[in-house]
Amino acid sequence: MNIIMMGAQGTGKGTVAGIISEKTGWPQISTGDIFRKNIEEKTELGEKANTYIAKGELVPDEITVPMVANRLNEKDTLDGFILDGFPRTIEQAQKLDDILKEKNKKIDMVINLTTPRDETIKRILTRRVCSNQECKATYNLVMNPPKVEGICDKCGANLVQRKDDSSEEAINKRLEIYDKQTRPLVDYYQEKGVVRTEEVSTRINRLGIDVATDILNDIKGE
Ligand code: AMP
Repeated sequence: MNIIMMGAQGTGKGTVAGIISEKTGWPQISTGDIFRKNIEEKTELGEKANTYIAKGELVPDEITVPMVANRLNEKDTLDGFILDGFPRTIEQAQKLDDILKEKNKKIDMVINLTTPRDETIKRILTRRVCSNQECKATYNLVMNPPKVEGICDKCGANLVQRKDDSSEEAINKRLEIYDKQTRPLVDYYQEKGVVRTEEVSTRINRLGIDVATDILNDIKGE
């Protein structure tokens, strides 16, 4: 099954995608993670992308789209994949349609996560991620803290705050871009009849893990 994770920053896209990926074997393809890995490894792509990411801006399509197209050529995507952080604009969605059409594939499900905005900002500021790029586990200091402060439960590496999560200015910029450029994608995919909207919030006491469990049960039942 080919899935897209949609939702503003801090709604838990990575968490939900990670759980579904672990249970199904469909790779989680996070464009943000691919960029961060390239930045850490100081590749040419990483250096180019970093100038935009640090400011909370979108990386241009000339860099992002071929990177995703190449990743979708890899064999582990044959049975399915979970895109996390792509597409982020209507143009990217149209380019993704073209890439998939060539492979006789389509998007089967768009998981649209919603969270109240004030909660979203708090979640981003308290998010910590594993510094080990092979692990990438995500924690929240309030809702999902690690067992030992500052250390990843899964692999023992140090937890860090993403640079673009520590500046309120960059966070607001990213949320503004989300509202303007990414949110309209929900309608784009709604027209294709593939959107599944789920709220993740303390208001209804629903975590990403609950959403992932429900979706996995539905996928199994199909
Ligand atoms: P994320 O981890 O998804 O929050 O992405 C971190 C940053 O990487 C974003 O703020 C953008 O600067 C960049 N980025 C990730 N995915 C995309 C994309 N599909 N198009 C453009 N820029 C992206």
